[in-house]
Amino acid sequence: METLELEQLGTKAMTAVVESPGKINLTLEILGKRPDGYHDVRSVVLPVSLFETVEVTTREDHAVTCVTKGEGVDVSGVNSLPSERNLAVRAVRVMQRLCGVADGCDIRIVKRIPLGAGMAGGSADAAGVMTALRTLWAPSLPLSEMEEAGASIGSDIPALVHGRAVLVEGRGERVSGISIPRNPAPAPFWLVLAFPGFPVCTKEIYENCHPGLTRDADLCKNAISSVRNGDVRAACLWAFNGLQDTVTRLYPETERFCLALRKGGALSTLLSGSGSAVFGLAENRDHALRIQKSLPENVWSKVVSTLPDGVMAAHGPLTP
Ligand code: ATP
Repeated sequence: METLELEQLGTKAMTAVVESPGKINLTLEILGKRPDGYHDVRSVVLPVSLFETVEVTTREDHAVTCVTKGEGVDVSGVNSLPSERNLAVRAVRVMQRLCGVADGCDIRIVKRIPLGAGMAGGSADAAGVMTALRTLWAPSLPLSEMEEAGASIGSDIPALVHGRAVLVEGRGERVSGISIPRNPAPAPFWLVLAFPGFPVCTKEIYENCHPGLTRDADLCKNAISSVRNGDVRAACLWAFNGLQDTVTRLYPETERFCLALRKGGALSTLLSGSGSAVFGLAENRDHALRIQKSLPENVWSKVVSTLPDGVMAAHGPLTP
């Protein structure tokens, strides 16, 4: 998560801007259903270079406003939500509680992650708001507290607040950073994201999935090694999504997008999270661009890379 700038406006209003990335799941194992209705998962989550721009300006009164504009994505589904259901606004409530602050803020979001795509756009907005408000309200607030509090509004938020490649367990609230060698740093993975143009409801997929059927003890260990080594060929061997069969059954169109990516030369393809977006892994950036070119022009697609360790966390809170 990169905090770009901190600006003092008028008397007390302050602005922080955060570039908050979306994610893919290189692995997603559904281990079992819990008594509370959630599922226990184990997932290697990798932030990717597709960012929401989240700008937060403090207010002296208690109001919270949120304006979302889309850049290449339809944001009507967010703008039609009652304000208090918007994850960005819910993130403000969480931070007010954590920081002991009653003040409100104005949020402006430029959204680039399609809605309901399994790339955690809403969670990225929430994580961006939390990071910005931490900078503005409570720079010494421990990240672990934000992760824990973020889990109460969205399962992907702790991973995104952590700001690097992570192993996620439990229902998403247990997050451990994957340490990546620095010298030399491994190559990032290049991939092509493709969005079939319709959202998938995460709840529906979890309600219809079959936990535990495809569990493999070494899967996540080997996937993590592939990330540490920057070895995309090895990553292809271990890429796995335990929700994919369910999503393919309910939304067969997603498989057609995987097929198109494979036809275009992708080394391997996978559904991201609960879909509907899929991604194809590539040898390098040029290869990814060639794969993207093979897709029909009217398909939403992006060439992105996984983000190197520490990029988001490195720009810690800035002081005015
Ligand atoms: P998840 O797997 O967490 O459901 P996703 O990555 O598939 O998410 P998102 O775009 O993050 O998809 O969110 C899905 C739903 O969450 C939206 O359809 C919308 O109703 C709700 N939502 C709430 N706040 C936001 C937000 N700021 N941006 C996008 N969606 C939001």
